[in-house]
Amino acid sequence: MLTGMQVAVIGGDARQLEIIRKLTELDARLSLIGFEQLDHAFTGAIKEKMDEVDFSNIDSVILPVPGTSLEGQVETIFSNEKVFITEENISKTPAHCTIYSGISNSYLNGITKKSNRRLVQLFERDDVAIYNSIPTVEGTIMMAIQHTDFTIHGSKVAVLGLGRVGMSVARTFHVLGAKVKVGARRSEHIARITEMGLTPFHLNDIEQAVKDIDICINTIPHLVVNASVISRMPAHTLIIDLASKPGGTDFRYAEKRGIKALLAPGLPGIVAPKTAGKILANVLAQLLKDDLQKRKGKEE
Ligand code: NAP
Repeated sequence: MLTGMQVAVIGGDARQLEIIRKLTELDARLSLIGFEQLDHAFTGAIKEKMDEVDFSNIDSVILPVPGTSLEGQVETIFSNEKVFITEENISKTPAHCTIYSGISNSYLNGITKKSNRRLVQLFERDDVAIYNSIPTVEGTIMMAIQHTDFTIHGSKVAVLGLGRVGMSVARTFHVLGAKVKVGARRSEHIARITEMGLTPFHLNDIEQAVKDIDICINTIPHLVVNASVISRMPAHTLIIDLASKPGGTDFRYAEKRGIKALLAPGLPGIVAPKTAGKILANVLAQLLKDDLQKRKGKEE
């Protein structure tokens, strides 16, 4: 349980509702900032404005998946008001207060560092990334179906990268009957691709590998699908780029060549916000329990 814990949930989208639900069930007390337009009421959670929050009582601050903008603004789907989080807010929290965010940027890194508070980026955790790969793959399948006139079954698919997303994508398209080849640069990845019953290729040989494909799914956050690679693809190839913005594709050249290339960020929040929220809620609940235990241990 999280009895006695005071948490500020600042901004966010539908995924945050699952976090609020879970933490209130565990008996934490919540200040909800940026949720004025939310009809639903949660027992143990009160809606507040940023200037009404007593940060000196806050044990944890939970920010939405994108964290903040470079100006410190927090996105608020359930409010029309602009919400900003500042170094001054964070500095008022007790020294043990932890800031949780999906990802971070120079602004958020800066204010947490200057105020000497711990920042946890949930999307850097393997467990979150692997669980999140499930709705990401489902969203990728949706896009492949929407943007092609052939079945995934029997199609030739190149997956670039064998990280947490790449592995799930490659396995699922294989199970759907696609002929999957996977591009990687590490010898242990080439070995794993082979073990999975898929066709490996080294990324140095990407230009050769894409010559006969129908779909290219990129998970590498670097420019790997460059103009030279795109020029080797069959004209009907669909490129789905899952890598974080700006993706790993030369979209300008793809358009010039008439190849459909789609940047598809944030699929879990789009295709399965409830599941994506539950993934974060479960991990956060465990992390907050650990925080509380540690604090109690120190107090005793
Ligand atoms: P990951 O586990 O770190 O995997 C990244 C993969 O890219 C690894 O195979 C890595 O290989 C490879 N790679 C990285 N830099 C490379 C380079 N310069 N050249 C060649 N290969 C390189 O990351 P992930 O969790 O799978 O996520 C992949 C991307 O998808 C990230 O950008 C993430 O933000 C994004 N993502 C998007 C969605 C969505 O909805 N679209 C959802 C979740 C994640 P090495 O091991 O050899 O470095």
